[in-house]
Amino acid sequence: MPARLAAPEPTWAVDIDVVVLGSGAAGLSAALAARPVRDVLLVTKDTLDAGSTNWAQGGLAAVLDPGDSLESHVHDTLAAGADLCDESAVRTLVAEAPTAIRYLSRLGAAFDESSHDHLALTREGGHSHRRIVHAGGDQSGAEVQRTLDESVRLAGVRVVERAFALDLLIGRLADGRRAVAGVRVALLDETGAVESVGDVTARAVVIATGGFGQVFASTSNPPAVTGDGVAIALRAGVAVTDIEFIQFHPTVLWTGPDATGQQALISEAVRGEGAVLVDASGARVMAGVHPQEDLAPRDVVAAAISARMAQAQGGVDDHVYLDARSIGAEFEKRFPSITASCAAEGIDPTTDLIPVAPAAHYVCGGVKADLDGATDLVGLYVVGEAACTGVHGANRLASNSLTESVVAGTRVGRALSWSLPLKVEAVDDERPAALLSADLRAELRSTMSKYVGVLRSADGLSTAADRLARLEEKTDSAVEPSRRSFEATNMLTLARAVVAAASARTESRGCHRRADAPESLDTWRRHLYVVDSDATVVESP
Ligand SMILES: Cc1cc2nc3c(=O)[nH]c(=O)nc-3n(C[C@H](O)[C@H](O)[C@H](O)COP(=O)(O)OP(=O)(O)OC[C@H]3O[C@@H](n4cnc5c(N)ncnc54)[C@H](O)[C@@H]3O)c2cc1C
Repeated sequence: MPARLAAPEPTWAVDIDVVVLGSGAAGLSAALAARPVRDVLLVTKDTLDAGSTNWAQGGLAAVLDPGDSLESHVHDTLAAGADLCDESAVRTLVAEAPTAIRYLSRLGAAFDESSHDHLALTREGGHSHRRIVHAGGDQSGAEVQRTLDESVRLAGVRVVERAFALDLLIGRLADGRRAVAGVRVALLDETGAVESVGDVTARAVVIATGGFGQVFASTSNPPAVTGDGVAIALRAGVAVTDIEFIQFHPTVLWTGPDATGQQALISEAVRGEGAVLVDASGARVMAGVHPQEDLAPRDVVAAAISARMAQAQGGVDDHVYLDARSIGAEFEKRFPSITASCAAEGIDPTTDLIPVAPAAHYVCGGVKADLDGATDLVGLYVVGEAACTGVHGANRLASNSLTESVVAGTRVGRALSWSLPLKVEAVDDERPAALLSADLRAELRSTMSKYVGVLRSADGLSTAADRLARLEEKTDSAVEPSRRSFEATNMLTLARAVVAAASARTESRGCHRRADAPESLDTWRRHLYVVDSDATVVESP
């Protein structure tokens, strides 16, 4: 794979204390927390609200009900993570979650209330209590995004939109260790063409570029979520871990066999309010599958749906249905966005069954980092969905990710206020640069959805590896640099990393399911690391 993204030579330079890449909950929280003390530049490749944060429906998990307990939230998170969570990271997240919610409320987030001064709490899959804070019914992420956007602007963070982070600038400390010197950035026009390229030098670079659902043809993630930051880290030789654990949301709105791109999510909270999954013959999908039935953890529900689709009950093999009719007239008030998405397809959830299917939704793995964002490379910090802090293990508990983005973002911002890494000079990077043509994105995405989806097998993964290798042969230094070709190259880097890790893990655990190795094995209670852009998998970083 190319060691760098091919782009025009830099023609400008900026020097700053901290540069944050990405403007979702994680990046905005980091910028906001660092800003009172540091000069902060926030670079984001589209508009501020283009990431997943703005789309989150269900809400943010935190223990706020006196009848609930931190221990119970820890227990549920560890249970979902299938023996791969880092328990101390989970305990820190759970302990700081209530403060994160109060912090957002003080910044102006209008969370839904059940009575004056009491936040309304709902339940989602895998949670044993009602502990999900939400806003505008199912517009929780949009409220978090709006609140943080405003706060960041008011705090005086310098924001550059349509600025695409390409690759890290690397230098050396006096003791010879590699360290981050900054980041190379392409400024884009409205069509995604490159206007100019420049170098932002900084003492700290915070990657907060989100996950990579767009690597799959069927996904709930918006178009901007192409995993650029994780690919940047791989090209810089920073270890990525747990990358095989991709959570497939069990229920996106199924709009036809040819639908691609971002698909509307039908939040788990709909099942939390009483909806049940049925197949085309009307039989319940989750009855007898798991004690929590329709509120079982997501991997269990997605696998049960995939297995039921494979049986083609009632002659239907590519979707099942959500029966939400019991919610009645309350549905529209509680779930306004979902009501609108259904209406656009001519579906009335109070009288009709909602067709649904699983789709790539959340990446549990990412760049190996702690909850303060620190990585193995001096000066590089990674937060939010781009990071793997050990909080999610092999499977994320619903609504822990927005909470993690705010908690980790705030922690890294605060840590950088206290101290910054030493400044280093960038060394010229002479490694070969190339790009994958944007025309090949569709082939890449359909390969991933077809062979690396909910149920995987050695044969399917090997077919995927061959097809991706053929795409890699087509990377070329002559491909026109643009947002879409930069993204295509990053998507290929990640697709290869996922396939390599998923092939190596010959068991089923959390949201990595192998049809040819259906059991979880004690010998596999360990992490895998991908350490470079050529998808080299190792057992310790
Ligand atoms: C439909 C949907 C519903 C969800 N519901 C929930 C929920 O209810 N609760 C929950 O906890 N989680 C939910 N999630 C997951 C959650 O939204 C994400 O995990 C979380 O928002 C990630 O935040 P982030 O800041 O890490 O990344 P994002 O919000 O995805 O932001 C990434 C940012 O990086 C920018 N960027 C990307 N590449 C580059 C680049 N090369 N250069 C510069 N900028 C770049 C993007 O434009 C964007 O601004 C949901 C996700 C989706 C898609």
